Amino acid sequence: MSSRRVPLRPAISALPVYVPGARPKVGAAAYKLSSNENPYPPLPSVLAAIIDAASDVNRYPDMFATELTETIGAELTQTLSPEAHDAKGDITAAQVVVGNGSVAVLSHVLEAVVDAGDEVVYPWRSFEAYPIVVSVAGGISVQVPLAEHGRLDLDAMAAAVTERTRVVMVCTPNNPTGTSVTQTDLLAFLAKVPSDVLVIVDEAYLEFVRSDDAVDGLAALAAHSNVVVLRTFSKAYGLAGLRVGYAVARPRLAAGIRAASTPFGVSHVAQQAALASIRAKDELLRRVDSLVEERARMLDGLRAQGWDLVDTEANFVWLPLGERTAACAVEASDAGVIVRPFAGEGIRVSVGETEATDIFLAVAAGWR
Ligand code: PMP
Repeated sequence: MSSRRVPLRPAISALPVYVPGARPKVGAAAYKLSSNENPYPPLPSVLAAIIDAASDVNRYPDMFATELTETIGAELTQTLSPEAHDAKGDITAAQVVVGNGSVAVLSHVLEAVVDAGDEVVYPWRSFEAYPIVVSVAGGISVQVPLAEHGRLDLDAMAAAVTERTRVVMVCTPNNPTGTSVTQTDLLAFLAKVPSDVLVIVDEAYLEFVRSDDAVDGLAALAAHSNVVVLRTFSKAYGLAGLRVGYAVARPRLAAGIRAASTPFGVSHVAQQAALASIRAKDELLRRVDSLVEERARMLDGLRAQGWDLVDTEANFVWLPLGERTAACAVEASDAGVIVRPFAGEGIRVSVGETEATDIFLAVAAGWR
């Protein structure tokens, strides 16, 4: 018998490890502020839809999530700016591709357009799945450092586009720094990027944005055929555990993304929960309003302690602690709040329960 081993693709052997936000130890009383989750449990109406759908799990789900994609299309059409609607009309189900969380949809987008050796440009630091999904798709990561205060450097990103660039990813608000780009800047950026380079606008935290001139990926999509918008039910809609996200693109690209997708990738339970969440949208978005208020309380509290922080538009706050990151995270955990350390860089703290904010503020005061 030969002792030769099955080789892994070099790109896979070299992958950075995705470190998920730590969970509280079983039985420990701790608040989990490490994964930008929604602290609210499912609404009774959403839970009822989940329970109802569970009785069908011996069957495969609707592979094309017909009702869900149609409903998302109709919902998004309601939110379109009049100019975007005039330009391109309704958002149709053919433009919506759902997947097992927006991170899976992102993989499928890349698999649909990236060939071996193509370059994918994105900001760094940003969502830690980016380098992984790029490598798995066979692409080469081109990481563009953030500008001051954790902001995306769109000029440098446009300058990083070469003949070999196939995709650019714009994360707004950016995970983990929370900063967002403006629509004016996004449109100026799109004007500089060739129309055969795909621009993915990752709007995972869109519902938490309150700034003027906020990014409107759907308006950008109405004006530019090379835009794909990524959204998720994991954050504002509180369905992280059921894994539903989606892409919105022009029909030809959407069909390509669908072709690259895992068959039956979104369970019936998840589809029904997403539909119930859309029906309960007003109530869920009121919860988002409360979280935005809690975010302001956390930011104000930290600034009152003397922290120099940029505004965050997401459901988390970024504390640049540098070399003190790990020690501060341990102290927070000992105090009962689990945060997300990025070694040597800083801590990302999700906005959750008010008690959790209070505990974290008490910890942070000691690190000024
Ligand atoms: N994009 C960004 C910027 C994120 O932070 C996350 C989750 N951490 C995702 C996408 C993926 O979310 P999901 O797969 O749960 O939809």
